Amino acid sequence: MAYVQRMSDEVRSADGAEPEDEASRPLRRILHLDMDAFYASVEQRDRPELRGKPVAVGGDPSRRGVVAAASYEARAYGVRSAIPMSRAVALCPSLQIVKPDIARYKAVSGEVFALFREVTPLVEPLSLDEAYLDVTENSWGEPLGMNVARRLKAAIREKTGLTASAGVAPNKFLAKIASGWKKPDGLTVIAPERVEAFLQKLPVDALWGVGPVTAGRLRGIGCSRLVDLRTVDENALRKAVGSFAEALRRLSFGDDRRPVHPDRERKSVSNEHTYDDDLADAEAIRAEVLRLARRTAAYCAARGIRARTVTLKVRYGDFTTITRSHTEKPATSDADALAERAARLLGRTSAGARPVRLLGVGVHGLEGPKVRDPSAPAGERDLLPFPDLDPG
Ligand SMILES: [Mg+2]
Repeated sequence: MAYVQRMSDEVRSADGAEPEDEASRPLRRILHLDMDAFYASVEQRDRPELRGKPVAVGGDPSRRGVVAAASYEARAYGVRSAIPMSRAVALCPSLQIVKPDIARYKAVSGEVFALFREVTPLVEPLSLDEAYLDVTENSWGEPLGMNVARRLKAAIREKTGLTASAGVAPNKFLAKIASGWKKPDGLTVIAPERVEAFLQKLPVDALWGVGPVTAGRLRGIGCSRLVDLRTVDENALRKAVGSFAEALRRLSFGDDRRPVHPDRERKSVSNEHTYDDDLADAEAIRAEVLRLARRTAAYCAARGIRARTVTLKVRYGDFTTITRSHTEKPATSDADALAERAARLLGRTSAGARPVRLLGVGVHGLEGPKVRDPSAPAGERDLLPFPDLDPG
């Protein structure tokens, strides 16, 4: 599970919004639409010989590739996105491995997003195949979010031959959970009067952004259900999850006022690389960190973005992943300065003493022209925000 950072950022920014009294807030109709096994489904659509077969889109298993998307047939064997491809093959020896063709997925994504934007301008992309839509007002004049979702799913199927799952709810948090409730081709509606019953059923890790580390800490303080967060001791909660505490507690009441942002602002820029062979030499590791930092800095400089925080990510040979950050004002995009700070963060890791499988250098706390979050991930995993920041 991912996105803790992003989630808490968003919730925090919502905190800064104008206080409104309950009654004056109109009920919203938020949709979360999520294409089913997107990359794998596009491949199965375009290559009939792959239909009905376990398919994984991703990298070469002999070169430490990871699974980017798995068809439902592959999921039946336990193949999931983000696991090493070599492990996927071990789980499912008949797995059909397909190299990603991001340009083709982007083209399909463009068709899907064009359909979304016919209904409302309030479309917030989360990735190539996922978006929030605020359809409180919509160009079809449909009063029910459920009907908008139904019509959109049909339009997507007609236009692309693919299925999507939809969640309909009064806010983003619930809409996102709802869309994952019944997949593939699902439609789950959480009407306002059903919100409380729904919340009562959720485990803490159903929350978008609560990964295994955070979930373990929450269970450690007696919260295994989401609603347990309502009554747990405030200090214990803060100790367990830090600044995420207040946002989590609000979500446990189903309180999520985050608006749908049509042009999501990018919150971080990063470059990372997985090595074919673990790096064990301290000088080689340092050289790589400098190279990745310079690449990140160059991306920022080219767009006039400056950053306050540099984050180094290290994944050791045993897959343990750590991040170390350093914040300094004023914000900068100076390549030498950022590279030097990233390299200094190496001193707070065991890189070298322990072999390293992956290195990444990212920047956060961005200033300058607003940068649109890429609804389109780049062809490589470079230039994407760290996918797995977890506060721990
Ligand atoms: Mg999807």
